[in-house]
Parts: sequence; C-alpha cells; structure tokens
Amino acid sequence: MNDDLKKLLSLQEIDSRIDRVSAEMEEIPREKRIHERELQSQRSDYENEKKKIEEIRERNRKSSGEKENTVKELADFKNKLLEMKTNEAYRTMLVQIKYAENKISELDIKLLELMYEEESSEENLKETKKVWERNEERFLKRQNILDGQMEVLEENIRELRNEREEIKSDINIRLLDKYEQLRSADKGNVIVGLNKGACGGCLTNLPPQTAVEINQGSAFTCPICGRFVIWMDDSSFAGSG
Ligand SMILES: [Zn+2]
Repeated sequence: MNDDLKKLLSLQEIDSRIDRVSAEMEEIPREKRIHERELQSQRSDYENEKKKIEEIRERNRKSSGEKENTVKELADFKNKLLEMKTNEAYRTMLVQIKYAENKISELDIKLLELMYEEESSEENLKETKKVWERNEERFLKRQNILDGQMEVLEENIRELRNEREEIKSDINIRLLDKYEQLRSADKGNVIVGLNKGACGGCLTNLPPQTAVEINQGSAFTCPICGRFVIWMDDSSFAGSG
C-alpha cells in the first residue's frame, strides 16, 4: 500500500475514534435531560398534593364557619322559642330548630370526613416528597459521575484532534481534500476494503484485473462512490468466502 494511503488509513481510524467519543459526549446531556424531566414530574406531583391539602383546608374553614353560624342560630332560636305567643309560631320555631340541628350534625360528618381526607393527603405529601428528594440525591450523584466522564471524554477528543492534525499535515493535499470531501458527504468510511471482489463501500463489483491489482497493493478509486478501495485483512476476491 502506498504511504499516503497508509497515513490516510490512520487518519480514518482517528476519525472513527473521534466519532465514537463525540457520540458518547452527546449521550451525557441526553441522560441529564431525562433525569431532569423525571425530577420535574415528581416535583409537580408534590406541588399537586400540596395544592390538594390547601383545598381540603379551605373546605374545612368554610364548613367550620358554617357550623359556627348555625350553632349561633340554634341558640338564638331556642331563646326565641320561649317568647313565642301562639302555638303556630311555636311549632314553626321547633321546625327551624330541628332543621338547624340536622344541619349541624351533617356538618360534623363533613368535617370528620375532611379531617380523614387531610390526614391521608398529608401522608401522600410526605411520600411524594420522599420520592422526589431521594431521586434528587441520586440524580446529583449520577450528575457528578457524568461530569467526570465528560471531562475525560473532552480530554480524549483534544488528544485525538491533536493527533489528527499531526497526521494530516503529512498527507498529500489532493488526497486529503478528496478524503475530507467524501467524509463530509457523510459516507462513513472513505477507505474501504475489497469485499468479494466488490467495493466495500457501495458493493459495486470491480473488474477481476482491478481486484488482482488491489491485492498486489495498488489503491483504486471506486468509479461509483469515489471511495478508496484497498486490500485489507478481511478482503476477498469475487466468488470466495
Ligand atoms: Zn464504491
């Protein structure tokens, strides 16, 4: 294989490593976003439970106030009962007293129910807070690990880029331009092996004579995809393998 192609192959190896490290680096903020969304949803569970308790307390205040008024009314009715002049008025007052008494006992039941509801909501609130806090703690630990990993990856990629610059400066400029052009077209590997007598990139069959020349160390440019086809460790002729 000619020297330039060997260098280009080293460049390609470095580029593959850069691609892998970059992909790992992209994975880190993605994982963080997933954690953040999870935390956000747990936080909103907690906020909702808090709101629910507020509502229960508000209903409690309303019913308590209503009960207080009714108790006053009842006392008032009972006082007035003694002042009633006619049987008719007396009976009407008794009905009102009965009505107020019923209302008070209904309100007592309601207040008791609200008390139970508040207790169970407070339990839920404690539970959602615990889940949220536990997860937040776990997320912070994981975030530290991820930040550490990110630093290592950044260092790796810096080294790889330096290495790339060194190799690059030593390669024939026309060959390099072609390589960069094919690479930026997102065709994956630019230097490929002969694969069963075909271009390892686009799988176009190459003439047998070309395959023999590639086997003897010549480099060949695929007429279809433009990749450099060389003989690699796993290369093979047509009909073999
Ligand atoms: Zn090809």
